[in-house]
Amino acid sequence: MDFTISEETQVMLDLMEQFMQREVIPLETAYMTKSFAEIEPEIEKRRRKVKQMGLWGPAQPKEYGGMGLSLMDFALVSEVLGQSPLGHYIFGCHAPDAGNIEILAEHGTPEQKKRWLEPLVRGEIRSCFSMTEVELPGSNPVMMDTTAVKDGDDYVINGQKWYTTAADGAAFAIVMAITNPDAPPHKRASMIIVPTDTPGFDMVRNISVMGHMGDGAFSHAEILYHSCRVPQSNLLGPEGEGFRIAQERLGPGRIHHTMRWLGICRRALDLMCKRAVTRPIAPGQVLADKEIIQAWIAESAAEIQAARSLTIQTAWKIENLGWKEVRQEISMIKFVVANVMQRVVDRALQVYGGLGMTDDTILAYFHRMERAARIYDGADEVHKLSLARRILKPYRARAAELKEGNSVFR
Ligand SMILES: Cc1cc2nc3c(=O)[nH]c(=O)nc-3n(C[C@H](O)[C@H](O)[C@H](O)COP(=O)(O)OP(=O)(O)OC[C@H]3O[C@@H](n4cnc5c(N)ncnc54)[C@H](O)[C@@H]3O)c2cc1C
Repeated sequence: MDFTISEETQVMLDLMEQFMQREVIPLETAYMTKSFAEIEPEIEKRRRKVKQMGLWGPAQPKEYGGMGLSLMDFALVSEVLGQSPLGHYIFGCHAPDAGNIEILAEHGTPEQKKRWLEPLVRGEIRSCFSMTEVELPGSNPVMMDTTAVKDGDDYVINGQKWYTTAADGAAFAIVMAITNPDAPPHKRASMIIVPTDTPGFDMVRNISVMGHMGDGAFSHAEILYHSCRVPQSNLLGPEGEGFRIAQERLGPGRIHHTMRWLGICRRALDLMCKRAVTRPIAPGQVLADKEIIQAWIAESAAEIQAARSLTIQTAWKIENLGWKEVRQEISMIKFVVANVMQRVVDRALQVYGGLGMTDDTILAYFHRMERAARIYDGADEVHKLSLARRILKPYRARAAELKEGNSVFR
């Protein structure tokens, strides 16, 4: 495996890092104290600068105006941009648009690409992904109530979704709905493009999450699809293939998320060290002189490096061997990195004491908002179970032989 970073990639990463420090991180105070609508003009100003620098849409296909980076290069970019909650949005590679762009580029018809994909890549419109339902477990999405029934040339969609991230102000949703109720469970659902101005697309509310309602790109909505009628030409990919398409997106999507979380880890560790060497704790002593603080710093650095190595190795394998070969690692990085992030942010917050609890640093925001990392993109437990199932499979196959052979296992 060759993990060397090319000179060209390093130059790009350095430019992004400088932009993050100069233009993005200073905007965080406004982000934490104002609504998205209020700071959108400032955000747009920075997005224009990113475009002028040729750094827009790192993960998006070149033919539509993105940079077309490889998964490995985008992984490194995601880490740099992840240092701030605004990074991915300002560089045009934020969830859920990034994933929706991948789906549209791979499965969209020429008309769908023209109408939805092209303006989405250019950052002129936003989108959302509407799968999780209020009444049924997101962890087992084959249990789904939302239906899309054919009527003439249309689909008529009925259902109740929530946690549709960034629906507020989005131009369209990619909705998962049951189109083939009699098919085997994984062949029942399809992806359908629903413009948000379609009658029957009712955005009930932005959900208050950890005390924050959010708005615009930084929000999570509950949506009622109430006899919502769209043409059958809005079907995205083949009918009944919704889960397969969602799964294809899983590997690269996981790398985007975990490297973003590692960016958060890096920022939290940096802040922890800065505070430790400057905060007096006794005459002539700063926090960094205390062994317990040193241990937290050492543990954080080691955990970050281990999680990062696993993630980079997984990205390399997805790119070179295909995602099916690395299912185990794709599960592993989800819960490993989410938990490392939570521990590192928690230690950093503790080092900051009362200041850590305020919104004068970004740490409280990370602590609040990134707790969700153990839940979205598949709850940790689901990934642990699937990993354990794969590990145990050959042992289960030999269980009788093992039992018979001996009580001592060699
Ligand atoms: C910030 C955020 C953003 C989101 N964005 C989107 C979005 O844009 N679009 C979208 O469609 N959805 C989105 N979601 C929803 C997310 O995908 C679901 O919350 C997630 O899949 C879990 O589903 P659930 O909430 O229904 O929990 P449930 O499925 O009810 O699970 C609850 C808990 O049960 C445990 N559990 C689950 N399964 C098992 C099992 N087999 N064995 C043991 N324990 C288990 C886990 O601890 C889990 O946390 C988002 C969620 C969050 C928090």
